[in-house]
Amino acid sequence: MGRAYIVGGGIFCGIGMGMKKTLPEKLPKVAGTYTLDRSLADLSWLRVGGAAELLFQPADVADLQLFLRELPTSVSVFPIGVCSNLIIRDGGIRGVVIRMGRGFNGIEILEGNRVRAGVATLDAHVARKAAQAGIDLAFLRTIPGAIGGAAKMNAGCYGVYTADVFIEAQAVTRSGELVTLTKDDMGFAYRSTELPDGLVITSVVLQGSADDPQMIEAKMTDALEKRAATQPVNERSCGSTFRNPAGFSSTGRADDVHDLKAWKVIDDAGMRGASVGGAQMSPMHSNFMINKGGATAADLEDLGEKVRKRVFENSKITLEWEIMRVGERS
Ligand SMILES: Cc1cc2nc3c(=O)[nH]c(=O)nc-3n(C[C@H](O)[C@H](O)[C@H](O)COP(=O)(O)OP(=O)(O)OC[C@H]3O[C@@H](n4cnc5c(N)ncnc54)[C@H](O)[C@@H]3O)c2cc1C
Repeated sequence: MGRAYIVGGGIFCGIGMGMKKTLPEKLPKVAGTYTLDRSLADLSWLRVGGAAELLFQPADVADLQLFLRELPTSVSVFPIGVCSNLIIRDGGIRGVVIRMGRGFNGIEILEGNRVRAGVATLDAHVARKAAQAGIDLAFLRTIPGAIGGAAKMNAGCYGVYTADVFIEAQAVTRSGELVTLTKDDMGFAYRSTELPDGLVITSVVLQGSADDPQMIEAKMTDALEKRAATQPVNERSCGSTFRNPAGFSSTGRADDVHDLKAWKVIDDAGMRGASVGGAQMSPMHSNFMINKGGATAADLEDLGEKVRKRVFENSKITLEWEIMRVGERS
């Protein structure tokens, strides 16, 4: 856990840490909370990783704006959702990690089958609330992230992507300006966007098609069952480890994506079930990397690199990571 837990800001950063300090002497006075040297492992799906030099949880959008306006631009900021697509390296993240909590988790049903969700809202919750209002955003039901992460990653499954339902987002720039992002601004592509580093999305408006709430509910139940039958849903993972080869497209749409499956090329290279330390390629789904218990971030990353090497040796295919690796190795 962190070495200091301060509400209200205005703190001085004189506390010793393992990594080189990048924070200013004095932090902006905020309404949210600062935690210095905050371990991130317990916030991440894989339960690995070092500490954030500083974790900031803004109280609301105005608080986030003030913080970003006053924080020297030399300090890097990294927003996180629920870390369901991140390997946070064992040496931790320098600068400020921003995590949105209460104050960023409201859901509003709007005219025209639209939903506005604060970025801390879990995808599953957005899907359920939308379903109750007869709006089909069922694809979000089985993706474990928060809606800010879904927008940033263009999350999707079973042929539907966030880009397909995206209307607009609000965000705060690194200099503290509140902006509205259109679909063009997002630059959606396969499991990615073109947003600048340090930009923090605060809310998202999505539009689904209208349907009977019970039909949407049934669709979501089907999707959950399908997942449970084919993926290690009770293990600590980040979902797909690698992108499907040649699965890149300008639109991120399913009809644009090549058929080759990452799990198949991993199987062909004999890497199903392969392990390094506590990290393993799941015997159930070979493109899911799991923490069997006691894995370090280095175990997970090294296993991924070993898989990439073997796949290349076997089929001359270069797998690309889908899980983001952030921070520093210790
Ligand atoms: C079991 C399992 C199954 C999965 N299945 C799928 C799947 O079917 N489809 C799929 O697409 N993904 C899947 N994932 C991966 C993951 O859930 C998605 O990528 C998700 O959208 C990440 O959201 P997050 O809140 O966890 O983001 P994080 O992992 O915390 O962050 C991911 C990226 O988003 C950025 N980010 C997060 N919040 C913000 C914000 N507010 N503003 C700006 N940037 C932000 C971070 O900086 C980082 O770059 C799966 C993961 C697991 C564990």
